[in-house]
Amino acid sequence: MNRPFVIPFHEGRLKMKDLLGGKGANLGEMTRAGLPVPPGFTITTAACLEYFEAGRILTEERKREIAMALSGLEQEAGKKLGDPRDPLLVSVRSGSVISMPGMMDTVLNLGLNDETVEGLAGLTDDPRFAYDCYRRFIQMFGDVVLGMAPYRFEETIEVRKEERGATSDTELSAEDWKWVIERFKEEVERETGNPFPQDPVDQLHRAVLAVFDSWHNQRARIYRKVHKISDGLGTAVNVQMMVFGNAGDDSGTGVAFTRNPSTGEKALYGEYLINAQGEDVVAGIRTPEPIAALASRMPGIYEQFRSICRRLENHYRDMQDIEFTVERGKLYILQTRSGKRTAHAAVKVAVDLVNEEIIDRETALTRVDPEQLDQILHRRIDPEAELDVLAKGLPASPGAASGRVVFDADIAERLSHEGQKVILIRPETTPEDIHGIVAARGVVTSRGGMTSHAAVVARGMGKPCICGCGEMEINLKQKEFRVAETVIREGDEISIDGGTGHVISGSVPLIDPELSEEFQLLLKWADEYRRLAVRTNADNPADAAKAREFGAEGIGLCRTEHMFMEADRVPLVQAMILAETVEERQKALEKLLPLQKEDFRGIFRTMDDLPVTVRLLDPPLHEFLPDMEELLTEWTRLSMNPDADPQELREKEQLLRKVRSLHEMNPMLGHRGCRLGLIHPEIYVMQLKALFQAAAEAMAEGVTVEPEIMIPLVGHVNELKEMRKLVDEVASEVQEESGRAIPYTVGTMIEVPRAALTADEIASVADFFSFGTNDLTQTTFGYSRDDAEGKFLHHYIDHKVLPENPFVTLDTDGVGKLVSMGVELGRKSKSGLKTGICGEHGGEKQSIRFCHQTGLDYVSCSPFRIPLARLAAAQAAV
Ligand code: PEP
Ligand code: MG
Repeated sequence: MNRPFVIPFHEGRLKMKDLLGGKGANLGEMTRAGLPVPPGFTITTAACLEYFEAGRILTEERKREIAMALSGLEQEAGKKLGDPRDPLLVSVRSGSVISMPGMMDTVLNLGLNDETVEGLAGLTDDPRFAYDCYRRFIQMFGDVVLGMAPYRFEETIEVRKEERGATSDTELSAEDWKWVIERFKEEVERETGNPFPQDPVDQLHRAVLAVFDSWHNQRARIYRKVHKISDGLGTAVNVQMMVFGNAGDDSGTGVAFTRNPSTGEKALYGEYLINAQGEDVVAGIRTPEPIAALASRMPGIYEQFRSICRRLENHYRDMQDIEFTVERGKLYILQTRSGKRTAHAAVKVAVDLVNEEIIDRETALTRVDPEQLDQILHRRIDPEAELDVLAKGLPASPGAASGRVVFDADIAERLSHEGQKVILIRPETTPEDIHGIVAARGVVTSRGGMTSHAAVVARGMGKPCICGCGEMEINLKQKEFRVAETVIREGDEISIDGGTGHVISGSVPLIDPELSEEFQLLLKWADEYRRLAVRTNADNPADAAKAREFGAEGIGLCRTEHMFMEADRVPLVQAMILAETVEERQKALEKLLPLQKEDFRGIFRTMDDLPVTVRLLDPPLHEFLPDMEELLTEWTRLSMNPDADPQELREKEQLLRKVRSLHEMNPMLGHRGCRLGLIHPEIYVMQLKALFQAAAEAMAEGVTVEPEIMIPLVGHVNELKEMRKLVDEVASEVQEESGRAIPYTVGTMIEVPRAALTADEIASVADFFSFGTNDLTQTTFGYSRDDAEGKFLHHYIDHKVLPENPFVTLDTDGVGKLVSMGVELGRKSKSGLKTGICGEHGGEKQSIRFCHQTGLDYVSCSPFRIPLARLAAAQAAV
């Protein structure tokens, strides 16, 4: 079917968003609802894709279609493009299906030329306005269409301002702008070899194509990568009659959110500028007035705007981000879209909209991106801490961060690649700085308001941001900023609090977050909808307690090797490994047992009444011993020293021999997991004794325990048979000693393909399966989970050899197939077999959806990801 090339606003619908882009669809929807929207038409995303496919050519037929749409627009507007007496001027704006604020290009005031500018000037009392528009048009067209560097134009304006002793653009007269326009045109001709284009239709065609092309500019590509937006969508282009916020003091322009996008509070939030065009607000070049001030400045307009805001919010059933312009006392709405918001705001708005009966609970659950919850769960500055506050700006995006000061996006990117934490400081950010914002922990600008580019982008990424921090005098050349007497240079450490707007000297202590009432309520609703249980990966009582507070319904993975890694235990573990005889080893194990028992008891107490899955020792033993190369260097040094203690030298030699003997070429495929338990059963016996004794003691204290013993890295049913026997033996021994019947189950991790392929056999001796998708990804792809990312995986992802990093998002086609096969075969031989996942994927939203669809019983993830998992599990179920 032929998809239409051009659609006038009055024919547009919200449901045509794929074709019209977000902006075009909303302009259509608002036009139909009778809101004051300047007329226009949308050139569709299909047209954009066709243009790219055809090798970036606009055919004659397409030009005719644009001409027809233009003539319709001229009729509606009652003006004609290029009319020397009363010219129609248009804006040409990008508008993709998923909003990418500021990333693509826009041309305003199109249709002006040497003739029409005179017509426009003749229409107003103040001709200055017309020349100001024309010079803006040349600047934008020069930048966007002709590819000229913006500073060339800015320099010319600065020259004129200096000559006139003016500090701001508004002080320049019509004559000044005429002079500037002449210089601009000369500059264009010098740079491009052609005069500035005078034919408005030619201007229009070229602007449309330039906006199409901006889909592929660098910042748009980076933005799409960060936000996982497909490169294949293309952008629509909206051509709309210009209205002028810069037509005098009865005009203005602004941006407002229907609720506060940082906190979610129900109050209009935004800003406006009198006698200005929209770009001035968004670009953050002039610091605007808060929207509330419009109530006294233009009370009628303010009331009308408020009522439109209410209408739009009810219509779209969501918080809106609205651009408006007032032209000589008449209000126009230029855009509405669902407003970008912080996680805090997303949660509050979703819950409030349910309470206001605008949406239902199910919809509310889909309104919060689970990944975003990370922001709420993040730490903030300890309120008790003494802060050396340097300056205060606008609190544009909440959260706290510390890092070294940088003044340049490229440097921010480079240092962050080197592993440094940086805070990006700029007078204002432009879309060109996007890679610096991605790299930085937080952003501060000295100019611009709460809806400036930096604020919008940082909020979308969940990074702290402070805007309009006017006290800061930034000197980009010297790479420093000054606040009164204090000078902070590149590389100095500062902290920022995006919730208060404070810029603080040095680093500061951070504390755990508190969870708002709305947040708890939303998660409670999530619990009502989800089918998957959510457990946690935790190996100590503190983590277990945190996870329980976040709503964990048990422990899905307790990695017991972490209990071996505490500094005071390492010598005991090493003695156990280095033991030459079974007796020696037994002695070392006996010392470890009470320590491990204490840990288990703490965990059982914390998880009273909930299941606790304990995995027996998994990593290769050499991980607990010193590095071989270091050891060799030490030994060489000692052996060359005639005064060295012979006893020490002998011990080093012995250690070196042992480390050598444990060395493996492929340790991840080596002597680890249940292979350790089979060769050195005494280690597992010690762990099992500690576990069952702790369980018996906890039971004696009145705690209800539910231990699940999990055997790692099983690939053959016989391995599990052997290990199960061992578990049962130790369990009966402890039960006999303690006189308590301990309720326990025995299961296995599914971490190697053979386990999934023979899951029916394995299930015959297992009470549960837990998919260890970290290792299962490693063993299925044959990628080392420790090396792949640094070596080749980045390249694979950047060049789309793989769609995603499979260690982050479960590879459903490959690894996922093994998971489904494991579940299916396992349940075939043992109906009701309990299944879960405990790899990192258990805390990732797409993988959680897959787990839901595959029929797993639970996911298990780190404590701070529990809320995310609860919400993602609910989203998978609604
Ligand atoms: C896994 O392999 O997915 C797993 C959970 O175990 P570990 O990460 O400890 O190897
Ligand atoms: Mg594993």
